[in-house]
Amino acid sequence: MALEYEIRDGALVWIRNPHTGVISYVVDVRAKSFAFTLGDRHIPERGHPLSPEVIAHATRSCPFCPGNESMTTRELFRIDPYSRLNETETERSDPWMIRVVNNLFPRIPSELTGGRNESYIVIEDPRHFIDSPHTASDLMYTAALGERHFLQLIETDARVIRLAFENPAVRSVVVRKNQGRESGASQPHLHQQIIGAPMVLPAMDAELRAQREHPGVWDDLLALIERLGLVLERDGEAVSFQTPIGAFPRSYEVMLPAQRGMLIELPPAEMRSFARLLWRLLHVLGPLPLDYEIHQGEGLPLHAHINARLYPYSNVAGTLNLPSTIFDNAAALRKSLTRI
Ligand SMILES: [Zn+2]
Ligand SMILES: [Zn+2]
Repeated sequence: MALEYEIRDGALVWIRNPHTGVISYVVDVRAKSFAFTLGDRHIPERGHPLSPEVIAHATRSCPFCPGNESMTTRELFRIDPYSRLNETETERSDPWMIRVVNNLFPRIPSELTGGRNESYIVIEDPRHFIDSPHTASDLMYTAALGERHFLQLIETDARVIRLAFENPAVRSVVVRKNQGRESGASQPHLHQQIIGAPMVLPAMDAELRAQREHPGVWDDLLALIERLGLVLERDGEAVSFQTPIGAFPRSYEVMLPAQRGMLIELPPAEMRSFARLLWRLLHVLGPLPLDYEIHQGEGLPLHAHINARLYPYSNVAGTLNLPSTIFDNAAALRKSLTRI
């Protein structure tokens, strides 16, 4: 399907997602009250930091904390602590920096992938809480990792993807991250999921179908993004942008338009650019609830979908309302990005 949208007086009025068919309508919501959805968010009092006892209690029962390695499934591999980072973290003495295990609950039953569990967990960092947490929700989050640590995380993802593709039953692999309770994260300790599937996963399948029907769909989308002023940053071949066809009103993408392959096939410079733009965007979004997914497939440009999950979301019968403030939001994000 070609990209369908309408622009009046220079402003986007509506756009149809060529993969899902969902139509986003741009609406002015400045006068709308979001008291119900945002009003009762708990803003904690900044009183005393959590006591060592409370911290010990939370981390003792966490399967992803150092010391509890026996609580997970067998470890597949770990990345040594901070040896190559040369950041402030070199002072720390954790037994590992990143750890990879199989997910205890495979997303796709293992009998469909040759009897092998192809769901993985990548524990992004040994730290459960941020420094001197004040509440149980002051959890460590991805944006608080250093940029080089995040690059190592993406390189670790590539290693897991290679591992999954060693299984001839695996045809498609996706990287998924949920941050925060509101995004559906089940474990508070920061981690990603990687899922190997016996077929091309439906989200990527829809993207491939749109691309087959209209090979110029990505170029058209990027040209429109540029025209609407929604591009955030570029680094080498990589580009990040606010998207009007996301799953949520505040959705972003990081894309390598010319890299039509898997994360494991990326030349090091493109891997760095991709990780860099993704990290910078996550850094600006901070500890907010969000999710991201890295999509890859034969012939598909490598890309990540990032959804900020704090804002009211309601898809009604295949329509989505896009606040007209996303254009101001893109400008504000660009400004924040220059300050990193
Ligand atoms: Zn933990
Ligand atoms: Zn995608």
